Amino acid sequence: MSLSILERPRVQEARDRAGQPIVEVRDLNVRFNGSRRTIHAVRGIDLTIHPGEVVAIVGESGSGKSVTARTLAGLTGEGSQIDAAEFTIGGHNALEFKERQWRAIRGRRIGLVLQDALVSLDPLRRIEQEVAEPLTTHGLVKRRDVRARVNSLLGEVGMDDPEVRGKQYPNELSGGLRQRALIASAIAANPQLIIADEPTTALDVTVQAQVIELLKARRDAGTALLIISHDLAVVSSIADRILVMNNGEIVEQGSTEQVLGHPQNAYTKMLIAAVPSRDANPLNEWAGKRPEGA
Ligand code: ADP
Ligand code: MG
Repeated sequence: MSLSILERPRVQEARDRAGQPIVEVRDLNVRFNGSRRTIHAVRGIDLTIHPGEVVAIVGESGSGKSVTARTLAGLTGEGSQIDAAEFTIGGHNALEFKERQWRAIRGRRIGLVLQDALVSLDPLRRIEQEVAEPLTTHGLVKRRDVRARVNSLLGEVGMDDPEVRGKQYPNELSGGLRQRALIASAIAANPQLIIADEPTTALDVTVQAQVIELLKARRDAGTALLIISHDLAVVSSIADRILVMNNGEIVEQGSTEQVLGHPQNAYTKMLIAAVPSRDANPLNEWAGKRPEGA
């Protein structure tokens, strides 16, 4: 049974109470210094995420979505150079964070489902080890309680038979179950924000819908989400707000209704036109799933 209609007002109240954004970024630039040239991957973007909000970043491949996602988690990578007029996490200046501080934030305050994790899960690590890591890293449960907590998390993300699944290795699981395991790991430490980069991309349509349902359950539980996708149809049923990214810049942003129903930018219009005909009008789907008319 979906609780979303009952839960939404409660989430809205939580939003109204919680004044401070989880993440606030103004004029963020990310550059990679190569031997021959510098790639300016993220160009002056602004982004604020409040508690309980669902924000989506959409754009074609290479537009800077993943670099943005990684930067928000302190994982921009080797050779990168970051500057911003403001970059705060929970009110703290992230531009001054040392690795130790990022480690304290990753998993704990911000849960991550990274784009390549689905294919690059450590093949030698059982699923239960993957999911236990945030719990042990942040010392959140007693050693003897870890297994029970992991099994309960695997159950929460809809895995049948968590005890058996936990003992398996990534290559024994379907793509959909691997994605569930990654989400279990991302939610293990009960973060305020989950960043999910292309969480449905490698999955077939049915499993895509299941993963979106799973993310909606997190939203209904009050967790903020930043969902990144090249596919507008995927985010249309879940996002409160959409940011459209092209060539490192945010070219358009607004409520899901505004961006899908009244796109202003030519690039946004092109993305909407590119949505396959089975979801001919993502806005119809979006409107149909919000009975409260939000
Ligand atoms: P998207 O996720 O929107 O497909 P990305 O954020 O992965 O795009 O990449 C944006 C741009 O940044 C691309 O031109 C990509 O080649 C470049 N880029 C990403 N990561 C690195 C890196 N570690 N070193 C150099 N260039 C990078
Ligand atoms: Mg990407």
